[in-house]
Amino acid sequence: NKLNVALIFGGKSGEHEVSLSSAASIYENINKDKYNVFTIGITKEGTWLYYDGNAENIKNGKWVELANKNVEINLVPMGNKEVGLLFEDGSIQKIDVLFPVLHGPYGEDGTIQGLFEISQIPYVGCGVLASSTGMDKLICKTIYSEIGLPQVNYCSTNRWTFRQNQEEELNEIESKLNYPIFVKPANLGSSVGISKVTNREELLSGINEALIYDSRIVLEQGIDAREIEVAVLGNDEVKASIAGEIKPAKDFYDYEDKYINGASTYDIPAKISEADMEKIRTMAIKAFKSLDGKGLSRVDFFIDKYSGEIFINEINTLPGFTNISMYPKMWEATGLEYSNLIDKLIELALDTKK
Ligand code: ATP
Ligand code: MG
Ligand code: MG
Ligand code: MG
Repeated sequence: NKLNVALIFGGKSGEHEVSLSSAASIYENINKDKYNVFTIGITKEGTWLYYDGNAENIKNGKWVELANKNVEINLVPMGNKEVGLLFEDGSIQKIDVLFPVLHGPYGEDGTIQGLFEISQIPYVGCGVLASSTGMDKLICKTIYSEIGLPQVNYCSTNRWTFRQNQEEELNEIESKLNYPIFVKPANLGSSVGISKVTNREELLSGINEALIYDSRIVLEQGIDAREIEVAVLGNDEVKASIAGEIKPAKDFYDYEDKYINGASTYDIPAKISEADMEKIRTMAIKAFKSLDGKGLSRVDFFIDKYSGEIFINEINTLPGFTNISMYPKMWEATGLEYSNLIDKLIELALDTKK
């Protein structure tokens, strides 16, 4: 009596390739004695395709050519058709659990979660609200400050205000924050559109760059910090893993370092005091709960290298999931091995108390 699980990967996001690697790892490691796995890819253009093949071709992108384009993927209850995979011969493959292995816009931001809600099929991970708030760095900051989670100083601007009073906005930012400043689009991931700026000229170009990706922008006090991450897992009852530390190879942990050069290193567990470890794990659960998180998230922190202060940086509701990604690695170090972690996520998706 196997469960039918649909892995959904790729997607119309700057993090498409990362998703392919995550999905290939999950496909290779998921317990095939327990699950029938169906793989559904979303192209960079946003087309959904059913691909019945191997992990290698998911990773290298060949699945797009090899996909069976005659299989319809129907997630909207239509009256005359059931939801599931609709084959050419008219048969319907029912899906028991949807497993989005997508990062960034259209995957991690609540949009696809909305579709899943409509389909009435249980799915892995956070719901609409936690996904969309988690993706929005500005909204998150408001919530964290409300519940007393420490954050670096920040301010914000948006395309309209900025274009109206550029000088005034720049003056205001400089009066609130000291260089270096981090400029970030409110809604994105993988460090896309983020810059670290050290003077007014760079501030202006950093804002213009971030405005390409989003109409709202976050400006943060840049600090010299250690970067600590924690993996969170659960619905009502939530657990936090042992924390890990990322050691970026360069000035900051940018897209190239994350996915191209991969020159950064990590420590799991992070070499921090027992007290800091406990504080960070507790704060991670608090952040997850404040957004109504379900299933999983990776919560990222800074420890100021000089003052030792701890700040929450951000939450990622669908973190990288290759077998060398921080999220599964931190669970492995906590005693939950990769394929058992996948079991647990599916179990949580089916949890009706959710
Ligand atoms: P992810 O891929 O984790 O979703 P993201 O695009 O959401 O990343 P952030 O995590 O906010 O981006 O920032 C990317 C990196 O920039 C951080 O990992 C860190 O190296 C650096 N950074 C961001 N904000 C600050 C700050 N205020 N002070 C110092 N470094 C920062
Ligand atoms: Mg992020
Ligand atoms: Mg992210
Ligand atoms: Mg991050």
